Amino acid sequence: MRVAFQTLGCRLNQFESEALAAQFLAKGWETVEFHEEAEVYVINTCTVTNKSDRKSRNLIRYPLRRHPESLVVVTGCYTESSRKDLEKEPGIGLVVPNQQKNLLVSLVEAHLGGELPKELPRDVLPVSLGNVFDYPVLPRVFHTRASIKIQDGCDNFCSFCIIPQVRGRAQSRPVVEILDEAAQLVKSGIKELVLTGVNIGRYDDEGRHLDDVIRQLLDLPGDWRLRLSSLEPDGLPENFADLFLHPKMVPHLHLCLQSASNRVLLAMRRQYTYEDYRNLVARLRDKVPGFHITTDLIVGFPGETEEEFQQTCQSIHDLSFSHAHVFKYSRRSETRADRMGDQILEAIKAERSRILHEKVEEQKLAIMNAWVGKTQRVLIEKFTSGPPCGWGEHYLPVVLESDAVRNEFITTRISGVKHLDGELVLTGVPLR
Ligand code: SF4
Repeated sequence: MRVAFQTLGCRLNQFESEALAAQFLAKGWETVEFHEEAEVYVINTCTVTNKSDRKSRNLIRYPLRRHPESLVVVTGCYTESSRKDLEKEPGIGLVVPNQQKNLLVSLVEAHLGGELPKELPRDVLPVSLGNVFDYPVLPRVFHTRASIKIQDGCDNFCSFCIIPQVRGRAQSRPVVEILDEAAQLVKSGIKELVLTGVNIGRYDDEGRHLDDVIRQLLDLPGDWRLRLSSLEPDGLPENFADLFLHPKMVPHLHLCLQSASNRVLLAMRRQYTYEDYRNLVARLRDKVPGFHITTDLIVGFPGETEEEFQQTCQSIHDLSFSHAHVFKYSRRSETRADRMGDQILEAIKAERSRILHEKVEEQKLAIMNAWVGKTQRVLIEKFTSGPPCGWGEHYLPVVLESDAVRNEFITTRISGVKHLDGELVLTGVPLR
């Protein structure tokens, strides 16, 4: 039996798809590309913007049209926000809410075995049967890096964000389970662990916080490194930057800024000021010179003035971001920002997004050029049709100019910068 996955959205969704694919493989299934023929298509959706909704709908319709005899399974945040729309879409075999995503493989098998009603249903099981952390530790299918889910949900309720509604309130996975999973992964040969969740900075397992988990993980022996997935800049302890002095911690964070205007940050109900953010970055770079920061930025939030937008543009340079994901503010019903009066015209949002993208690319090129002649320790991740490539410790994509083995660390002298499939990448020569 063949299963094909398509995944949208955040690292957490990527982790969950990967864990589900591994479960299918362990049960004797074959995973194939989404455009290939399969008995089951799983679409792990996202709803963070209108564009994500549109993409989710298009992906769901693809197998429905091209492979109507297959079983189409829809899961992820779009199932939470748009249940009514999904109910109108004929042909979907199974809708699995986030809370029960970990049960998806058994639900598919039960469905195919005729143990579930043919016309399936939205809430397939009582919510209490799901466990958002219960994914077995199995070999990774899509990446050599292994994400460990440590947290889910969020209590911050930023005014633009629908995630607390679709992922639920914050929950933290017990420390012992995280340590156990990490030990198994390192023992199985994984060389990069990535701690992931919706808001990992608010991790709290009976008073043990993110820094406690990190400190305990760093005691695990072996040649491996630790990365954090995206992080909110609030709620971190004063000495958080000290953690990065450990050689296993990579010198990179994806720290969500969203806007450099304090008025906009307040309207977004973010829990920090631009100065707080800047100070955190300064502390990190004080401890680890050359520390790389990537970020998320929103343009066109209700009421954002030209001057406030310019402050965000300026932050790209001032904070020396090595990359930024730029989002046009997208109205989500049931959020406070959707009810704000001074919505920005789409044409203005599009123009601001274009300008910011350009600035991000300029900055990125300058930062990458500055790496030429220096070294990166690259974990070989995958082989495209061309040469091997992977990620350096600063989260820079590096393409090697010679052979390499997957999942191997290679210290590489950076020889140049080029475009590959529309993306800027570094080229490197191994130092042997
Ligand atoms: S911190 Fe804010 S933006 Fe991030 S998931 Fe929570 S509510 Fe959404």
